Amino acid sequence: MDHFALKGGEMHAEEVALSAIAARVGTPFYCYSEATLRRHARVVLDSLASVGDPLVAFAVKANPNVAVLRILAQEGMGADVVSEGEMVRALSAGVPANRIVFSGVGKTDAEMKAALEAAILQLNVESESELRRLSRVASDMGVTAHVAIRVNPDVDAGTLAKISTGKAENKFGVPLDRVEALYAEAASLPGIRPVGIAAHIGSQLFDLAPLEAAYTKLGALAQRLRQAGYPVERVDLGGGLGIPYDPKLPLPPSPADYAAMVGRVTAGWGLQLMFEPGRLIAGNAGVLVAKVITLKSGAARRFAVLDAAMNDLIRPTLYGVYHDIRAVRPEAGEMVATIVGPVCETGDMFAEDRSITPLAEGDLVALMTAGAYGATMAGTYNSRPLVPEVLVSGDRFAVIRKRQTLEELVGLDRVPDWLG
Ligand SMILES: *Cc1c(COP(=O)(O)O)cnc(C)c1O
Repeated sequence: MDHFALKGGEMHAEEVALSAIAARVGTPFYCYSEATLRRHARVVLDSLASVGDPLVAFAVKANPNVAVLRILAQEGMGADVVSEGEMVRALSAGVPANRIVFSGVGKTDAEMKAALEAAILQLNVESESELRRLSRVASDMGVTAHVAIRVNPDVDAGTLAKISTGKAENKFGVPLDRVEALYAEAASLPGIRPVGIAAHIGSQLFDLAPLEAAYTKLGALAQRLRQAGYPVERVDLGGGLGIPYDPKLPLPPSPADYAAMVGRVTAGWGLQLMFEPGRLIAGNAGVLVAKVITLKSGAARRFAVLDAAMNDLIRPTLYGVYHDIRAVRPEAGEMVATIVGPVCETGDMFAEDRSITPLAEGDLVALMTAGAYGATMAGTYNSRPLVPEVLVSGDRFAVIRKRQTLEELVGLDRVPDWLG
């Protein structure tokens, strides 16, 4: 459930008309609903409370805005970070260090050092060589790194290839049959204390069966490790639960369905569980609002050209996925249009031959479910400045990331002396 709905014929975020925000900040802009973020956080935390006292760490990469992280920290969520930048964001948002876990397949020495200096809860290690490097970095600093080994359980998550992470051929994690040897090595290395195992098999999952298969393998592995005498305090079950993008499709499993499965599979494990939801928390809490610049008829089809483009929201271009697109002030009737951005790429397309209420030039549209993997994946291709992010709370709104100016965008370039 989200708080983007028609009121008086016009789409609002909570009590604020999107057109009022557009009048203030211009278009395009991302708009998040605080009530929706809090609601999603509570539903997820409440559902997972049935499986003991888990640590639920928001996957910061889904939406790293510091104001968003502040809201989620207030709700009691930790943070799953994959770079020093994300860690700095989480800390500055007020996420306690002992609720931060550092994931990622290629942590640099500098990132390891920063994580150890900040004394975060845990680093999820993804290879033998990374573990040995972390041991050197931690030893040099005279500290102990608390480590979970990320397992590649070799299950097919049944999602898009580009966001599937738990198959043997993917770059993530340590193959299941090498984890016990690595855990033993971790227990013997200076500067390392193994505290658990982790897995994350993919994103936008609509089927609980692959998650259940992965968790079953993790449970058996945790038991083998304990029988061998190693400490296993925590098992990190990752994120990945899907959300509805296309209202015409069946709904994904609910957080309650997911929690019930987890409860069944992990009964008797007797250790702390950890979760890393991203999309599930932030996805439906945000929209991207854009203006129709031009309507044009090609030889084969009609195009609606928006002022937002693939650089602002790359998911349709990158994955070929669906975003619901709605007129902010819908008129009666229907038109079919291919909805594109102005970037010089044919792939700069939000929707092909989409049926939508009639659009006119100057109209506002909302690209729905853009709160996760939206602004965070934006770039400046075609020298298009990063667009602002706005947070709505009841009848208030605030810019939580300002629009990049052309001066800021171009001002990073330097012309070397020899060019005169
Ligand atoms: C991306 C990611 C997540 C979050 O995935 P969602 O599908 O957004 O829930 C969790 N854990 C890790 C390690 C990730 O890389």
